[in-house]
Amino acid sequence: MSSFDISNVPDTQQEEGTSVFEERSLEDIQNEIQEAYLADDRQWVIGYSGGKDSTTALQLIWHAIADLPKDQQNKTVYVISSDTLVETPKIVNHITSTLENINEFAEKKDLPFKAHKVTPKVDDSFWVNLIGRGYPAPNQTFRWCTERLKIDPADRFIEEKVSEHGEVIVILGARKSESATRKQVMELHEIEGSILSRHSKFANAFVYTPIEDFTVDDVWSYLMQVDNPWGKSNRDLAALYQEADDECPMVIDTKTPSCGNSRFGCWTCTVVSEDKAMQNMIDEGDEWMEPLLEFRDFLKSTQDPEVKPQFRQMKGRRHGRVREKTNGDGGIIPRAHKFEFCKDLLRKLLETQKEVNSRLPDDEEEMVLIKEEELREIRRLWRKERSDWRDSVPKIYEEVMGEELDWVKDDLGSFSETEEKVLKKVAESHDVPPELIQRLLDTELQHHGMKRRASIYNEIDKVLKEDWRDPEEIIAETEGEDSVEDWQYEGPAI
Ligand code: SF4
Repeated sequence: MSSFDISNVPDTQQEEGTSVFEERSLEDIQNEIQEAYLADDRQWVIGYSGGKDSTTALQLIWHAIADLPKDQQNKTVYVISSDTLVETPKIVNHITSTLENINEFAEKKDLPFKAHKVTPKVDDSFWVNLIGRGYPAPNQTFRWCTERLKIDPADRFIEEKVSEHGEVIVILGARKSESATRKQVMELHEIEGSILSRHSKFANAFVYTPIEDFTVDDVWSYLMQVDNPWGKSNRDLAALYQEADDECPMVIDTKTPSCGNSRFGCWTCTVVSEDKAMQNMIDEGDEWMEPLLEFRDFLKSTQDPEVKPQFRQMKGRRHGRVREKTNGDGGIIPRAHKFEFCKDLLRKLLETQKEVNSRLPDDEEEMVLIKEEELREIRRLWRKERSDWRDSVPKIYEEVMGEELDWVKDDLGSFSETEEKVLKKVAESHDVPPELIQRLLDTELQHHGMKRRASIYNEIDKVLKEDWRDPEEIIAETEGEDSVEDWQYEGPAI
C-alpha cells in the first residue's frame, strides 16, 4: 500500500513504529484474514467502537470475507458495539446509524455480518448506580463504570455465543503502537505459533487482532484510501475525530485504559478533568449540548476534596458504619451520596433533559437522558434502601416534567409521608433516631408474609449495628467542632 499524506486527517498523537505496509501488502493482510476465517467453524465476534481502529479492523474483515466465494462465507460474524446509555449524543448517533448500515448492506449483499448493540442491565446503569445507590461520580481510583457499562455487556454477549457454539474468536482493533502498556498486555496473551491470543477472561474465547502492527498513520492511510463498504464515509469519521480529539476503545478488560484520557466516551464522564470533545462540539456550533456539559462539570466539581463532605454521607452503604481515614490526615471517609443530594441530582438530570430538548435543532431526535426503567429501578432502591416513605421519584418526575408516568401504586405496600411525620414526632419524643425505626419497620415489611423468616433476625441485627449516632456528634468527635459545617448539605448547589 502506498504511503499517504495524512496532513488533512485529524491530529493524532505521534506514535513510534514502522509502517506495517513496509513489511506486508494489503493483500497479505486480507489473505491472513481469509485463512483465519476458513480455518475452523468458531464464530467471530468483532468489538466495534465506531472509532478509527475498530472501523479499520471491521473494514478489512468485511472486504476479505466479501472476496471469498459465496459457499465459503458460511460463518456468521457478529459485530458488537457497546452503548453505555450515557454516550456522547453525536457519537451514539454515529454508532447507531453505522450498525443499521452494516445490517442493511450485509443483507443486500448477502454477507454473513450481524450487528448488535450491547447495553448495561438496568440495575447496572450509570444513573441507577449514581442516583439510585448514591455511588460517587467515577474517578481514576473508583472507576466503577467501565466494568458495569462496557465490559459486562460485551462479556455477556461473548458468553452467550460461547454457550451456543462452544468456542468463539473475538476480534479487536487493538494496536501495539497505541501505548507501551497496550503492547505489553497484548504480548502477554499471545499464543506461540498462532495469530490468536488467549482471552483474558474466557477459556473458550480467543482474540484475533488483525491490525496489531498498524501505526496510527497506517490506520488513517487505509481509511482514506479504501472505501467504506457499508455506505459510510470515512471522511465523516475523520471529521468526527477533529471534533472529538480521540476515541474510546472497545473495552474488554480493566487493563484497557477505557476512556479515561480519550474522548469518545460518556457525556457524564468525570474520570477526565475536562470534557474537551463536548466542548469542541459546542464550540463548533452544537450549543444545544451546553446543559450536558454543565451537568458533567457540576458532577466533576463534587469530587473536590474541599466540598466532598457536603454531598456524601458518613455511613458506608453496605455496613452502615462510619470509618475514620487511615492516611494520617484524620477525619471521616466520605461514602455514598447523601439521599437529599441524590434527589437533587435526579431533579437536575430531568431539568437538563428538558433544557437540551428545548434547544435541539429540528433534525435531531428528542433525547432521553434517563430511561423509564431506570427511574423505576431508582424508585425501588430508594424505597428499599433509603426508607423513602415519601416516594420521591414519582413526585420529582411530575414536578419537573409536568406529567405522571404509569407508576405501580404502593407496590411495596409501604408507609407514606403521613406515617413518616407521625413517626418522626414519636421517635423524637423518645429520643430515638426516626430513621432507625423506619429501617426496622421496612425490614419487617420486606419479610412480611414470608414462610421462612429466619433471615429477618440477621437483617435486624445489621440495622442495629449501623452507626445511629447524631452526625454532628460524630463529626465533632472525629474532626472537631469546626468541621460540622463542612458536612452540611445546603440543598441544590446546581
Ligand atoms: S467514558 Fe468515562 S464514564 Fe464512561 S465508562 Fe469510560 S471511564 Fe466510565
